[in-house]
Amino acid sequence: MRKLIAGNWKMNGLRADGAALARDLVSRAAKSPPSCDLLVCPPATLLAEIGSLLAGSRIALGGQDCHAEPKGAHTGDVSAPMLKDAGCAYVIVGHSERRQNHHESDATVRAKATAGLGAGLIPIVCVGETAAQRDAKQHLSVCGGQIAGSLPEIAGAGQLVVAYEPVWAIGTGRTPTTTDIAEVHAFIRAELKKRVANPDAVRILYGGSVNAKNAAEILGVANVDGALVGGASLDGASFWTIAQAAG
Ligand code: PEP
Repeated sequence: MRKLIAGNWKMNGLRADGAALARDLVSRAAKSPPSCDLLVCPPATLLAEIGSLLAGSRIALGGQDCHAEPKGAHTGDVSAPMLKDAGCAYVIVGHSERRQNHHESDATVRAKATAGLGAGLIPIVCVGETAAQRDAKQHLSVCGGQIAGSLPEIAGAGQLVVAYEPVWAIGTGRTPTTTDIAEVHAFIRAELKKRVANPDAVRILYGGSVNAKNAAEILGVANVDGALVGGASLDGASFWTIAQAAG
């Protein structure tokens, strides 16, 4: 399966920074087209502008979150149809920073993923254990519970991406061993087999401190179909090295 390298810019970037990064990526893609699919997920304020800059390139646009409702009295929120309207093809849901800081439950994440699908977006559903859960050897049961509770019911081939992001690896510079990543990704694949019609067509991304140095090793692990990259996606050269590692 062609790998997907996705950049999650989080709450970073004013208009000038975002435009400069997008232009840099478009220029790199034109010079040396990657043999993976590419996605950037800028903050909501930059979506329309970055979408225009990416138009005609092979780099897709995604939102970092969406509301479960298509419109209404939800101050500060962005709906899935709004993301679609801004040019998005994907939406991240259930990122651990949303689950933790905004107290999002599995049911909320599932509702958001379902809303994304309804708007014609591909949801990237994030799952992953905390350090305490890993220490207690609960990582598989935690991920299994999140998958059971968060995946949208109707997802079929090509309509869904799952990202395994151990919470303790996000933004810390720490990564699981390749054996640990392989264990969880194989487990997620097995869980998908129980739930979706074409489980081998669902990409399973790894996320958590992926960088230019460790990308090739991580992307070589079985059942790792790409990466969700935070910090390193804010630097064009690093993100590009990761994209090339996916080839
Ligand atoms: C993320 O937040 O999705 C992420 C993977 O962050 P980082 O790469 O910075 O660990």
